[in-house]
Parts: sequence; C-alpha cells; structure tokens
Amino acid sequence: MKRIALFLGIVLFLGACSSVMITGRRQLLLVSDAEVLSMSATAYKQFIDSVPASKDLQNSALVSKVGDNIANAVFTYMKNNNLAADTSNYAWEFRLVQDTTVNAFCMPGGKVVFFEGILPMTQTEAGMAVVMGHEIAHAVAKHSNERLSQQMVASFGAGLADMLLANRSAATRQTINILYGIGAQVGVILPYSRKHEYEADRLGLIFMAMAGYDPNEAVTFWQRMAGDGTGSTLEFMSTHPSDGNRIAKMKEVIPEAMKYYNKQ
Ligand SMILES: [Zn+2]
Repeated sequence: MKRIALFLGIVLFLGACSSVMITGRRQLLLVSDAEVLSMSATAYKQFIDSVPASKDLQNSALVSKVGDNIANAVFTYMKNNNLAADTSNYAWEFRLVQDTTVNAFCMPGGKVVFFEGILPMTQTEAGMAVVMGHEIAHAVAKHSNERLSQQMVASFGAGLADMLLANRSAATRQTINILYGIGAQVGVILPYSRKHEYEADRLGLIFMAMAGYDPNEAVTFWQRMAGDGTGSTLEFMSTHPSDGNRIAKMKEVIPEAMKYYNKQ
C-alpha cells in the first residue's frame, strides 16, 4: 500500500513539473491554476474592500494603460508560441490605491496593485512599465504557485501523496492563507526568493520590451529606488532589495530584452 502511495506520489510529482516561459526553468506546481486563481480572488477582494481606490484619475488610467499594454503583448507572444492554453488562467486587473506606501504587488492570476506612494519613484509611463513588467512576470512565471507547492511539500512532506489524493483543497487553502497573511494583514505578501526576484526582473524587462517600452528604463528606476535618501520606509525595497548586484544582473539581461524591443 505504501509503495502504491509512493508511486502515485512520484507520478503526480512528475506530472506537476512544468517550465517557465522564455527562461525554461523547471518548476514544481502542485496546485491547479484554477484553484490558485479562486483563492487569490478572495484575498484580492479583501484587499480592495479595505484600501480605497486612488482619486488620482490620471495616474489610475495610466496604470491601467501600462498594464493592458504589457499583458496584451505577453498574451500575443504566448499565442504565437503555442502557449495559448495558459492564457485562460488570468483575469487581469490593474488598480492604483490610495496609500502612500512605496509598494506594488501582483496576485496570482493577474490582479496588480500599485500604491500611490510608488509614483514618485516610477515618475513616467516607462517607469511604471518597469514595475508592471516585473509584477506581471511574477504572475506569468507562477511564482506564487511554486512557492505554495514548496510550502506544501515542506509542511506535508511524507504525507504528500495522501494529501494530493485526498485532501488537497483543504491543504491548499491552509497554505495560501499562511502565504498571504489572510486574516492578519491583507495585502501583505511574503517576499519572494532571490531566484524568483531575478527571474521576474529578467522576464519583466522582456515583457516591457514586448509592449514597446525601452528596457533601459529599468536601470534608471532601480537607481532611483536605491538612491532614495529620505529614510522613509520603502515597502517595495524591503521585498525588492536594489543592491548593486541586482542592477548589474539587470544590465546583463538588457541585450536579451532589446531583441524583443527591436521587433516592435
Ligand atoms: Zn518581485
């Protein structure tokens, strides 16, 4: 019986392996996109019920425009590269909220939130595209699903096969609640690993380039973030440290992103 469970576990495990578009990195995804989407929709609703939308209509419209431009460009790329099946798992929404925190995030499935406090850092439409590209990349590379899956393996370890076969929804719900801090502080998402951050930087540059935004703007944006000497708490910085390493790595990827930019 144990052997059967182990076998099934391995089969499910292998079946759950997929790879990230463009980077080709293999990842383990144990939760279906539909499940992740429905749970993040609940978390997103809690968030927008508690934080009012921005009254700055001009910048709200700009956030939507940049989000639409990049999401459409990414979807066009997916459709042209036999990845169309994946596009049904997103319900994009781009929102600017009334909050002076320097922050932005994207929930799995495509709910992107910009805080007003990040506008002095983004400054221009292209600056917005840097942050938008990065956040959309987290969603498209399914970093939340991967993190959730890793967390499930860590929490349920030996009982994984049983859990996958029997009680997966409950386990998923429990884990997503932990990751998203639901019930405590809505909208607080645990920082991604460095690996995910670098991947989101690389894909983010490519995605903004696909939409016609110059990826070189990313260096300027991150230098601004690094150079903010006001001593204010930059939420985005605490989850996205902009050390020299990060900027250097981004510069390495710019030539790759420029190939997509020049195709415009
Ligand atoms: Zn990030």
